[in-house]
Amino acid sequence: MSSSISSNIAAIKSQLPPSVRLIAVTKTVPVEAIRAAYAAGIRDFAENRIQEALSKQAQLQDLSDVTWHFIGHLQSNKAKKAIEHFQWIHSVDNLKLAQRLNQLAQQLGITPQICLQVKILADPHKSGWSISQLLADLPALNHCKSLQIQGLMTIPPLGLNDSETLDVFNCTRKLATEIQSQHWSHIHMQELSMGMSFDYKLAIQGGATMVRLGTILFGERSK
Ligand SMILES: *Cc1c(COP(=O)(O)O)cnc(C)c1O
Repeated sequence: MSSSISSNIAAIKSQLPPSVRLIAVTKTVPVEAIRAAYAAGIRDFAENRIQEALSKQAQLQDLSDVTWHFIGHLQSNKAKKAIEHFQWIHSVDNLKLAQRLNQLAQQLGITPQICLQVKILADPHKSGWSISQLLADLPALNHCKSLQIQGLMTIPPLGLNDSETLDVFNCTRKLATEIQSQHWSHIHMQELSMGMSFDYKLAIQGGATMVRLGTILFGERSK
């Protein structure tokens, strides 16, 4: 198993531009497989459930130079745990949550890095800002001074063809450029967290700076 993980990682790395950060999505993946990915050079790991993540992190404490990314829907009552245990939150999907995280971060004296999750197309299965709501919320987000707002995250709806998927990624990049051109003091837009196992090549074409890959590194997840 660990040899296939390391060869999967080597194969993916050879396709990624050096500027693109490879984040290994380890939801449902056992700690032995995470250690194999670490041995193959991965230092960025992502989880989508707080409880599962904390138990794995506790078993991996010796891997001290790892960066943990939270990518799941975050409930307000888990917000504190999230910023205590993850350096990055990719899935900040509404203003109230951002303000809650900001307040907690201020109390804890930390400055978590976050991405704002946007829905370029309406999608009842996903959370995230619509474009118009995000633009309207920027002044309030700019007041969240304990958050390091680094960019946008998106997940295209299921069932799009390649050209529609690429449109979603391009549109996300253009939205980031538009926000950047407004010169907010506390909103930065240098990161685009987009691309999963089945669409990461399109995401890179669209300008992704971070790809979140699970299946292609670790194999199919058992439900
Ligand atoms: C599970 C998940 C991924 C990884 O998906 P794969 O298709 O296994 O690569 C990426 N991003 C998010 C938000 C996820 O929940």
